[in-house]
Amino acid sequence: MLIASPAILSTLSASQAFGQRRASGPISDLVDVKDPTAKAVGYLEDFTKSKAAKGNKCSTCSLYVKGADKNGKEAGTCAIFPKKFVYGSAYCNSWAKKA
Ligand code: SF4
Repeated sequence: MLIASPAILSTLSASQAFGQRRASGPISDLVDVKDPTAKAVGYLEDFTKSKAAKGNKCSTCSLYVKGADKNGKEAGTCAIFPKKFVYGSAYCNSWAKKA
């Protein structure tokens, strides 16, 4: 009969919790410009294509948190798009100046 020590049980619980986090899905995809939310806020992957941007872009937005590069470009997360990345050089109509 195998009896697990409390330390092993603790490790197993941590592994199971980690597995659950991974199962819920890491952030890996970029926002699709055809996504309904992206369309609603006028999301563009290139801020220079928007006259409304006036030089503003995701990387200077208060809702942006820098993350890993995607396709050789800076990317990060945005509160508007849970579980997705936006390019730092993207823009949408919900841009808000960092405090
Ligand atoms: S809210 Fe800010 S970070 Fe999010 S997509 Fe719009 S401009 Fe980019």
